[in-house]
Amino acid sequence: MAIRVCLLILILSAACVESKYMVYNTSQGIVQGKLNVHLVPHSHDDVGWLKTIDQYYVGSNNSIQGACVQNVLDSLVPALLADKNRKFIYVEQAFFQRWWRDQNEAVQSIVKQLVNSGQLELINGGWCMHDEATSHYIDMIDQTTLGHRYIKEQFNVTPRIGWQIDPFGHSAVQAYLLGAEVGFDSLFFGRIDYQDRAKRKIEKSLEVIWQGSKSFGSSAQIFAGAFPENYEPPSGFYFEVNDDSPVVQDNINLFDYNVHERVNDFVAAALSQANITRTNHIMWTMGTDFKYQYAHTWFRNMDKLIHYVNQDGRVNALYSTPTIYTDAKYAEHLSWPLKTDDYFPYADRVNAYWTGYFTSRPALKGYVRTMSAYYLASRQLEFFKGRSEKGPTTDSLADALAIVQHHDAVSGTSKQHVADDYAKRLFIGYKEAEEIVADSLACMVESAFKSGCRSPVTKFQQCPLLNISYCPATEIDLSAGKKLAVVVYNSLGWKREDVVRIPVINENVTVQDSNGQEIESQLLPLANVSLGMRDFYATAYVGKPPSVTPRYWLAFTASVPPLGYSTYVISAAKRKGATLVTQTSYKSTGNPNDIIEVGPGNLKLIYSANEGKLTQYVNRRSSVNASIGQSYSYYSSYDGSQDLEYFQASGAYVFRPNGTFPITSEGQIHSTVLRGPVFDEVHQRINSWIYQITRVYKEKNHAEVEFTVGPIPIDDGIGKEIVTQLTTAMKSNKTFYTDASGRDFLERVRDYRADWNLVVDQPVAGNYYPINLGMYLKDDSKEFSIMVDRSVGGSSIVDGQLELMLHRRLLHDDSRGVAEALNETVCVLDKCAGLTIQGKYYLRIDPLGEGAKWRRSFGQEIYSPFLLAFTEQDGDKWTNFKVPVFSAMDRSYGLPDNIAMITLEELEDGKVLFRLAHLYEVGEDKDLSVMASVELKKLFADKKINKITEMSLSANQEREEMIKKKLVWKVEGSKNGEFKSLRGGPVDPIKLVIELAPMEIRTFTIEFTSLSASVMKGLML
Ligand SMILES: [Zn+2]
Repeated sequence: MAIRVCLLILILSAACVESKYMVYNTSQGIVQGKLNVHLVPHSHDDVGWLKTIDQYYVGSNNSIQGACVQNVLDSLVPALLADKNRKFIYVEQAFFQRWWRDQNEAVQSIVKQLVNSGQLELINGGWCMHDEATSHYIDMIDQTTLGHRYIKEQFNVTPRIGWQIDPFGHSAVQAYLLGAEVGFDSLFFGRIDYQDRAKRKIEKSLEVIWQGSKSFGSSAQIFAGAFPENYEPPSGFYFEVNDDSPVVQDNINLFDYNVHERVNDFVAAALSQANITRTNHIMWTMGTDFKYQYAHTWFRNMDKLIHYVNQDGRVNALYSTPTIYTDAKYAEHLSWPLKTDDYFPYADRVNAYWTGYFTSRPALKGYVRTMSAYYLASRQLEFFKGRSEKGPTTDSLADALAIVQHHDAVSGTSKQHVADDYAKRLFIGYKEAEEIVADSLACMVESAFKSGCRSPVTKFQQCPLLNISYCPATEIDLSAGKKLAVVVYNSLGWKREDVVRIPVINENVTVQDSNGQEIESQLLPLANVSLGMRDFYATAYVGKPPSVTPRYWLAFTASVPPLGYSTYVISAAKRKGATLVTQTSYKSTGNPNDIIEVGPGNLKLIYSANEGKLTQYVNRRSSVNASIGQSYSYYSSYDGSQDLEYFQASGAYVFRPNGTFPITSEGQIHSTVLRGPVFDEVHQRINSWIYQITRVYKEKNHAEVEFTVGPIPIDDGIGKEIVTQLTTAMKSNKTFYTDASGRDFLERVRDYRADWNLVVDQPVAGNYYPINLGMYLKDDSKEFSIMVDRSVGGSSIVDGQLELMLHRRLLHDDSRGVAEALNETVCVLDKCAGLTIQGKYYLRIDPLGEGAKWRRSFGQEIYSPFLLAFTEQDGDKWTNFKVPVFSAMDRSYGLPDNIAMITLEELEDGKVLFRLAHLYEVGEDKDLSVMASVELKKLFADKKINKITEMSLSANQEREEMIKKKLVWKVEGSKNGEFKSLRGGPVDPIKLVIELAPMEIRTFTIEFTSLSASVMKGLML
């Protein structure tokens, strides 16, 4: 041993002799002509996963996981100060802002210096690292905007790099919208399919130019790099206190001196990565989950590695960041391989498709979507009333919604106690926003904005549990002369008609519209299954059983102006009143030709009277007549017991079916049809734990299916994943289309990937895709679409058929870290039951080329349902409201059918954040895939716009500035400038008209002359 050390001393020259007083040279920058190893120190801090966000932050509950984000950030500051060459990136603003608020001014000022000098880089910069499969693009924008706003305010910095290292597959929307359109020059991630990765390594195509949008092509492209393995360091280079990688021991007076070995290890790992990477630049992600809790060990070892590796000279090691790395790649002036579409689905090895999480925790996913829409609407109402510094505000709902976009939150891959924490945060945020909504509506109906509207007298109630038919506000006895006023708020920019349904206890009721005219309405008896669910869940959520039991759903069509409300008054009927539906139960007739026709309008669904099965879809208006069937089945979840090499059960992340089993109807009565003037319902009890109601509306050309699924039985010891299939005879030729994060539609071909020759080991799970908006298929004459009310997994396993996974209940963990089986239960006292899910999907068949209109415009209506507020009234007049109908827009105005207003929000500084989205892709619809324009003078009737500034998507810089800074990448085999994407022109400050090209989202800050409530005066209709 002694001899070897002496030899090393000779080889390594004087540096070793003086190691006692060692100063490491870490100043090395990029060296041309050498392989540059960019060491990127980072910590991946999940915004909740095995522990809650707060537990991770303070470092409690450590028996689950020894993780404390406070430690990371606390230890980072002195570690960076110790050597100005050291660098670090920090990503999750939900944690960073918690920490920032805890620091004194001295520390804050040091951190500002570290950010200014580039030692500490804040990248990605959203509140969390959002999921890309189950997050809706509006939520992705909101949570990114929130994080970017703080970074801008505190540090005057605009992040340049996307860092989505852990999400389980990657969305086209991430590349072009949350990447290019927020001004990112590059995007890095760790998880792509293992087959894809293997091929890309050989072709050196892990790094690509990703054009995620058909509509924007190269004008919204981004440099995208998938890591060679994951987001961790190469094997043997982990330096957390307890890690077992060999530390660099360079003190010759101590045993185990290993500089030479460690340098050789370093060079070998670098060369091996260089073999699969273009250019002389490779990135090492030096960190992983919750690392740098004692930052010194990492930096001490990296200091030494940089020093000795550079002394060795074979490769060049440097402290770096993804920004420096990106600029180095750019400086090479290379052309890069082109990537279009997306990186779904993701499998990390054989039989391990991460497609289960598209559906995992469907109740949480539904709640997130509901809250997302509520947040959008409540910010509008907050804007009308004027933001209150004292509160309540919508800020805590913003915070909760941003947190829950995290890739272990809405994805459904956290532990149960963490999922509960997410739901609790949403509820707390909701309760505060609910006050704003109630106050703002009260001000409006009383027309009291002109006097400032401090304390309106009208008290509005809302019904967040309306989905389980629980709404105390409407379950009042109207027979004694009381009246119920229902304010129906429409957050969309166009006028809209939709059916409102509320539970009531009286049979003789009537509905009057905003003019006091009685309107058509119908009463439907509440199904026993709904009442059972209502009692159990209301008790579980509210803490006590409901005091009254409603007998009916009262349904009527509300017509509401854009960005406004209408009032409806419900009272005891003196004359005719609401029509009680007729109810017919059907049993088997024995005759296969007997049919049941359902639907009071153009659309008819035909059922076989003998079996109660849906057979035909007929729309007289569009002349569509197509055979269609609907069924349920379940996949039994694989338990991993037969696996020899890798244990792989179906779990929270992974979908691994072990056989499919049809679920057939039980019982004598197979369907009950309720017929009324507004809509018909078909009630079907499929079995003891699946109930469905299919609605066909008089005024709508789609059918709506409300399903109640659960508790999924597990007494046979087998987990189950419940799907519904809609089957047509259409020849779809293996091809179907699914949305990317609720936005673009991507073509999917069964058992096929555009980027590599797929080896099919999981013919079902490997063909599942995330659905946020909907999916469709087509043949040469028709297209068949399904739209969803939350994110779910979906596929087309056989031609002509669309399949949605609605619910899953599992008994095994899939060994990806969460260490719990996804077996959700709901308890009342000591009585627990498996979770029951209630949700909706919508289906429609159109002539070929005409489906987009419905998918896009109705899709936005699904996202933004009417917001309902209730109050009791007395008196002789039909309503006490001074202003029973309201629109913030000019009376004659509404947004075009292809435009949605996705943000209207008063910021803390009084400016207004305003976003418009064109809903159609290029070529999607002959009438609506065109340039559209929005007239702000009419949209903000009677408000004066002082200044309007177009911003980047996350509103942290002017768009013009962003475009100027942007790197222009070259794509292999294409000449730049070939593709001309269409964009709206600049906004003339006098005309104030905003143009939007297909798929364009434009973000503005607007300064109004006065935001005082008095301007509302003139807006009342
Ligand atoms: Zn993660």
